[in-house]
Amino acid sequence: MSKKAEIVKIGRRLYSKGLVTGYEGNISERNGDSILITPSGLCKGYLKEDDIIEINILGEKLAGNGVPSSETALHLKVYREREDIQAIVHAHPPTATGFACAGMGLDQSLTAETVLMLGTVPLVPYGTPSTSELPDTLDGFMGYDALLLANHGAMTVGKTLENAYFLMEQVEQYAKISFVANTLGTPKPLPCDEVDKLMALREKFGINTGDPTVCSRDGQVTLYRFSRNELVNLIQEILNEVGG
Ligand code: 13P
Ligand code: ZN
Repeated sequence: MSKKAEIVKIGRRLYSKGLVTGYEGNISERNGDSILITPSGLCKGYLKEDDIIEINILGEKLAGNGVPSSETALHLKVYREREDIQAIVHAHPPTATGFACAGMGLDQSLTAETVLMLGTVPLVPYGTPSTSELPDTLDGFMGYDALLLANHGAMTVGKTLENAYFLMEQVEQYAKISFVANTLGTPKPLPCDEVDKLMALREKFGINTGDPTVCSRDGQVTLYRFSRNELVNLIQEILNEVGG
């Protein structure tokens, strides 16, 4: 299947699963030195191969009829800073976006699957969609493969387009599970020693998403563990405060 055909297929899946509605979301994939990206303002569930636009790493259009996605700068920032990433999916999955609107990331180690595949999905601060503000909000979060965008949606990246898409499905699943567990009462995160075992499995399988941050100790107590990025951000914040 051609890369354009694959992007069309993923657009249909996002739309049919309700991870985007209307004109929401965008998809891109590296194509050698250039990038294929969805057009702005079209329903991603009804795209045709001819709608997909080719751009260079500066965002200049090389081929295609429409206007490249309004979030092109967001995609380009990731491609510039992460050579390992081949594809990006941005969507507005309703439950995960609900967390992003409540000012909450997904950080409780609730199921083995979510610890293995996602660990923590942090909340990136708000930036106006389609402006250069939004890519700037990713500073400090480039190590994560799945992110919530405050008051906006979610973004996932992967070594293949299918990987990036499945991460988006899993982010929404993680959000649904978290929502139900929190609605039913006080959720009980996995014990920290179980999380450590899952971390060892992640290493074995080469999974490298956000490190888990919340697990439980002695049955009840919740322990907050910082991921490397969060620790770096925290130290930076403290240094900024001390410095001025
Ligand atoms: P585009 O149709 O321009 O890609 O925008 C959709 C979107 O989700 C903006 O954040
Ligand atoms: Zn969006």
